[in-house]
Amino acid sequence: MNISTGLKMEKEICISKDEIMENLIAEGRKQKELHRRASVIRDKNVSRNIYFRGLIEFSNICKNDCYYCGIRKSNNKTIRYCMPREEILKAVEFCNEADYGSIVLQSGERRDKNFINSVVDTVREIKNRYPKIRITLCVGEQNKKTYQRFFDAGAHRYLLRIETSNKEHYKRLHPKEMSFENRKKCLKILKEIGFQVGTGVMVGAPFQTVENLADDLLFFKKIDVDMVGMGPFIPSDQVPLNYQGYNQERNLNLSLNMIAVLRLLMPDINIASTTALQALNPIGRELGLKAGANIIMPIVTPTRYRKNYLLYQGKPCINESSKDCLNCITNRIKSIDLNTAFGKWGDSLHFFKRVKNDSN
Ligand code: SF4
Repeated sequence: MNISTGLKMEKEICISKDEIMENLIAEGRKQKELHRRASVIRDKNVSRNIYFRGLIEFSNICKNDCYYCGIRKSNNKTIRYCMPREEILKAVEFCNEADYGSIVLQSGERRDKNFINSVVDTVREIKNRYPKIRITLCVGEQNKKTYQRFFDAGAHRYLLRIETSNKEHYKRLHPKEMSFENRKKCLKILKEIGFQVGTGVMVGAPFQTVENLADDLLFFKKIDVDMVGMGPFIPSDQVPLNYQGYNQERNLNLSLNMIAVLRLLMPDINIASTTALQALNPIGRELGLKAGANIIMPIVTPTRYRKNYLLYQGKPCINESSKDCLNCITNRIKSIDLNTAFGKWGDSLHFFKRVKNDSN
């Protein structure tokens, strides 16, 4: 199968599934060249600007029990919290003053009325108080009516990670009451409503093959997403998913190569260099940016909550303040000679082209 990248600024590139797999396991010189090529494509298509998404992890209460997640409902070692609205607004105020341009409101998944109403009211209040700020939501699977309410309140981007595009693999990562089909349906609904839609997968997860990862990239292309965030799988003694033969370096390399190959396949989408990369290597986020990512998500959750939002073990930035993270990230971006895009929304360019194409 040949896949067109849709790249207009360079000679169009076609890459087969076999080539994708070959690139995913690239090491040494070949890997360096792959990352260099991906960053050139990033520069030409979405610029050298690195956009900020201030990440507010406002609640770790979740009704789900995903086998890989540190805040799954069965983990009784986690102290549960839900930030009061004023505290969320304070975190947004910080982002506003730091000129981050955008925030992400993230939590565990809940579908009860109180939670939904509270998210809607919070989004509306953020729009009122901080009209400069763009809002991304990441609060899991909801029904169409709820997604529409979120959108009408003022959220305009939504992140919902599929975690794996392989149905059988999905079943091995999630309890039986969770549905792969429903997650795909949610992604479709989000697009129909008009959100800029992001998804992503875990990289290096148990039972996952390189072919699965290649299929994940092709899945992103097929459903035509606007944004992608992929994190390496990191084992933990607080989750049931075990991993014999876990190899940290392999997972880091696979994660970086996933970013790079995705940039070749989808040159104009937004790709995050996730904090989890830094759990595997002190300069993991810089390496993600050098492999073609263009989004960074500094944590702005108040420090006292951070140790209870551990989706994976060894999460960095747990004891730092929002100010520390601002300074640290700024220096990291500058250290690799990319631009800090303060005050810019950094909307997905792909989204605007997609919407234009859909309306023609
Ligand atoms: S991955 Fe998300 S939905 Fe699953 S248990 Fe964790 S917070 Fe809940």
